Amino acid sequence: MSYLNKFSLKGKVALVTGTSTGLGQGITLGFIQAGAKVVGVDYMPTQDDTAEKVKALGGEFTSLQADLIKATPEDLQALVEKAVKIYGKLDILVNNAGIIRREDALDFSKENWYDVMAINIDTVFFLSQAVGRQYVKQGTGGKIISIASMLSYQGGIRVPSYTASKSAVKGLTMALANEWSKHNIQVNAIAPGYMATNNTKQLRDDETRAGQILERIPAGRWGTPEDVAAPAVFLASSASDYITGFTIAVDGGWLAR
Ligand code: NAD
Repeated sequence: MSYLNKFSLKGKVALVTGTSTGLGQGITLGFIQAGAKVVGVDYMPTQDDTAEKVKALGGEFTSLQADLIKATPEDLQALVEKAVKIYGKLDILVNNAGIIRREDALDFSKENWYDVMAINIDTVFFLSQAVGRQYVKQGTGGKIISIASMLSYQGGIRVPSYTASKSAVKGLTMALANEWSKHNIQVNAIAPGYMATNNTKQLRDDETRAGQILERIPAGRWGTPEDVAAPAVFLASSASDYITGFTIAVDGGWLAR
């Protein structure tokens, strides 16, 4: 058996949120190429683009529709039960879906606070809980990977709910790792740096801000979904079985400065 088999996801089933575009699509395509089947969750009515790309790779992908801002803990439990029925089990959860709202803290609206907290941390906890219960029921253990941010480590500007939610993701990752190691569940997070996706379009369209950001990234470029996909495959594979509770930066050196 090749040593590289430890990095394989052959026979694994992943549930990934926010798969219609961006990092979630990149992670899905990475998982497919590593051999997993993927159940994607998104609020977009169709995920043709991701489904087409998976088909071109000869992989298996099914999408479920859910609004992860509005979903209650009961909705998320039901979503997991539905996902399990598709391929018969779950081995990997990626809490990727997330949003950002920009407004001065002095004017920051209730909606911009609660919507961001709802999807970026409330859903991350209750979906992890539902999937954690499934792993315990299966007796298999499993992997949970949440997408954190540079703002799990830094304050940011004009994004107070985003910073609060992503800092909470880092804390929750440690808390769940402590409780669930005994069930062979590894819980980690990836903190992407500045990645070229819809999430950062507003920033990249602002020439001054985009220039300042690029100048500060040691790698000298914005990241891509592929940059995040490979570390996600690693954290989803048995190659990382002794890594838990940690938030790994994938940032082209941003935090090192
Ligand atoms: P994106 O906006 O390109 O994609 C977000 C995905 O989540 C989309 O598929 C979208 O349809 C889905 N989504 C949004 N709202 C939803 C809802 N209410 N219900 C269900 N699905 C919903 O963003 P991205 O850049 O790919 O971000 C993915 C994750 O990575 C987010 O958690 C984000 O905070 C995080 N992140 C991104 C960057 C970056 O620079 N792009 C940096 C750090 C962290």
